[in-house]
Amino acid sequence: MSELHKFLFDGLPVRGMVVRLTDTWTEILRRRASNSSTGAYPEPVRDMLGEMVAAASLMQANIKFDGALVLQIFGDGPVKLAVVEVQPDLALRATATVVGEVDAATTLSQMVNVGNEGRCAITLDPTSKFPGQQPYQGVVPLFDDRRHKIEKVSAVLEHYMLQSEQLDTTLVLASNDQVAAGLLIQRLPMQGTDNLSGSMVSKENEDQIGLNEHYNRIAILASSLKREELLTLDVDTILRRLFWEESITRFEPLEGDTAPRFACSCSRERVGRMLVSLGREEAESILSERADIEVACEFCGVQYRFDAIDAAQLFTAPLVLHVPGGLEPH
Ligand SMILES: [Zn+2]
Repeated sequence: MSELHKFLFDGLPVRGMVVRLTDTWTEILRRRASNSSTGAYPEPVRDMLGEMVAAASLMQANIKFDGALVLQIFGDGPVKLAVVEVQPDLALRATATVVGEVDAATTLSQMVNVGNEGRCAITLDPTSKFPGQQPYQGVVPLFDDRRHKIEKVSAVLEHYMLQSEQLDTTLVLASNDQVAAGLLIQRLPMQGTDNLSGSMVSKENEDQIGLNEHYNRIAILASSLKREELLTLDVDTILRRLFWEESITRFEPLEGDTAPRFACSCSRERVGRMLVSLGREEAESILSERADIEVACEFCGVQYRFDAIDAAQLFTAPLVLHVPGGLEPH
């Protein structure tokens, strides 16, 4: 069963979260494997995407924001795009576009950052926008401050959190064919946090990136968590092993319907709009060679079919398809 656990270190400006996705993750993999045009993910792509799914779940659960969190890696190698979209209720979907060979030994940079042109983007897309409002987006490269290629999704995101949120963050991520899991430890921002009453943190002490001894000690403990442990141990065991000397307060875990879970928001209407945007000529040229236009959703694999009559309807009455207030891509 998939689960997400939140906890606080008592009296310290540090919080943590563990996510462990099992059925949610295998559902995403099963749908991909049954897509006859793509087939299953090559292992390194699968593990990169699983780590992104775990990380995006943690990041969405970590913020108070009414909108989708979209984590994307735009690659310059055989993987062109990997994307995870997590809704405020933690419903999520994910996909990756693989255009070249990826064998079992392929590294992160060999997949998405061959020429140091790869990018990671985090987008916060509000559910209700005022006219003309753009989603917030932060972008970081896949290299460090010395332009060395980063080989871990976790390191890319730690870099992002430090750069754009000014937050010390430690992430441990792991994925295989059964589990996508992650541990997040974060130094709390100084304002607006109820748990700081018992700590010695003062406002004058606000800018302490990298300097908070409590955070640093806990971060070192968190970083000692091995990939195998994260994939195989239950959450209670992980927290006991890492933080047995710390005093932590745990919250009611999110499980089942409240845990991160697979759900796709695709629809026939949206696919229809996409066909309209391709243009009538393109649609007619496909229909001159075959009976249907078939479009498979890349997230869930559902096939949408449009025959000549459906297509004619799309192009004669395109306005009918615009659903006001719907979630539109930009
Ligand atoms: Zn879908």
